Amino acid sequence: MNKVDIIIIGGGAAGWAAALSAVQENQSVFLFEKLSESGGSSAKSGGCLAFAGTQLQRDNNVEDSPDLLYRDLIEIGKQENDPVLVRTYCDTQLSVYQWLVDIGVRFSPLMETASGQSVPRVHSVDPADMVRLMQSLAIKSNQCTYKNECQIKSLISENGVVKGVTDTNGNNYYANKGVIIASGGFAKNPEMLRRFAPQYAEAIVVAGDGSTGDGLKMGWKLGADLRDMAYIKGTFGKHPTDEHSEHSLQAVYKGAIAVNQNGKRFVNESISYKLLGDAVMSQPWNVAYQIMDQAIFDTGDDRVRILDFGRRLEEGLFIVGDTLDEIAAMAEIDQQTLNDTVNRYNEYVESGEDLEFGRTNMVHRHGSLVKIEKPPFYAYPSTAVVFGTYCGLRIDDTARVINVDDEVIGGLYAAGEVTGGFHGAAYMTGSALGKAVVFGRIAALEAAKK
Ligand SMILES: Cc1cc2nc3c(=O)[nH]c(=O)nc-3n(C[C@H](O)[C@H](O)[C@H](O)COP(=O)(O)OP(=O)(O)OC[C@H]3O[C@@H](n4cnc5c(N)ncnc54)[C@H](O)[C@@H]3O)c2cc1C
Repeated sequence: MNKVDIIIIGGGAAGWAAALSAVQENQSVFLFEKLSESGGSSAKSGGCLAFAGTQLQRDNNVEDSPDLLYRDLIEIGKQENDPVLVRTYCDTQLSVYQWLVDIGVRFSPLMETASGQSVPRVHSVDPADMVRLMQSLAIKSNQCTYKNECQIKSLISENGVVKGVTDTNGNNYYANKGVIIASGGFAKNPEMLRRFAPQYAEAIVVAGDGSTGDGLKMGWKLGADLRDMAYIKGTFGKHPTDEHSEHSLQAVYKGAIAVNQNGKRFVNESISYKLLGDAVMSQPWNVAYQIMDQAIFDTGDDRVRILDFGRRLEEGLFIVGDTLDEIAAMAEIDQQTLNDTVNRYNEYVESGEDLEFGRTNMVHRHGSLVKIEKPPFYAYPSTAVVFGTYCGLRIDDTARVINVDDEVIGGLYAAGEVTGGFHGAAYMTGSALGKAVVFGRIAALEAAKK
């Protein structure tokens, strides 16, 4: 029988959080995954989730609250985000954190260096393990039928209400209570990326292979409104030629500066790495170098992928020299200009005022700036990488999809990267994976109530 309570399109963090939440409410579920394996971008991710007010924070003497999280999210989103969605996330995230802990997800460590956070609130996890755990518990319930290698092509809508889905082989599946689109973003769809973010058309893309915008197009076809399409951004800090490491490196958040091929700084290095992504894409050859000294290098953290300087050094990705002249020569930067840039920056640190870019802290509003003076010196070549698109279907606080006339599209929910409106103009570390789990769970609990 091709009918269940809830149909879920996509097996990433949003899809499996929805599936597990639904079966825990005694709902029958179909989850369709177009690839042979679930996981999507979620499993590839850095495993950072933004939660506020948790026991892990208290254990680390970090005072945080949903209200402070709200303020930070709105600030980093430049007030372009939908305050209702942000409020919903902030009010729900603690219970979702607890739900994850209760099912057996273990978070550690609390990461201190993250974009857009007034206090440390990145809870680290092995993201592939987290998705696998939700998947195995959902399937174990016998309430969830999982179909992999099954690509959903379209939604079945009757009198404006979504009743089911059709796969690429023409099979129809029906849902009594609702269809949840959890199909991720469209970073791996070059045509869509070029249309919505031409500045990133030539950028490096690292994302799940299924991130081709299928769900966004399905909702769009039914008249769904779209949000945040103008704010697609790459993440700063990807080595331009290394193909082994998919992750970025954020030495700037430990006090490094970023200089372009002309040896000049071009941005306040403490802002969101998404805004740094935009900045580097407007530099010559879309490239910059994160410049640091031994003291900054020593603050790397091998437990956190984006701060694991030692591993990148072992992989031969750093340019290292006893003098700034040496690293300038290896990076083909004018030596005098690089020396002048570093000396000027050190004067700013000493005087407490960055006269060029107004940098005041290492990251966001925390961490004091440090001089770059203790040899050897290091340069990490960096460009921007598109990890995700973070924009798309407009939803309300119960994850229902809203059309261009401000009306709910009956029977249709969406969660995770396929949705827009939550991030606004920029992005806080941990908020995309967090949003996937939080809104995946909200969508399922809402659909189950019907
Ligand atoms: C390298 C990398 C690092 C990142 N690090 C972080 C981080 O540390 N913190 C953070 O907050 N965010 C991070 N992100 C972003 C974050 O991981 C994603 O935004 C989030 O995980 C998306 O979850 P999702 O469930 O919505 O989508 P996905 O995890 O992409 O899952 C979508 C699933 O739907 C499937 N699918 C697509 N179309 C169909 C279809 N038509 N039919 C059936 N199935 C379909 C896909 O194959 C995929 O399995 C990172 C992303 C990447 C790539």
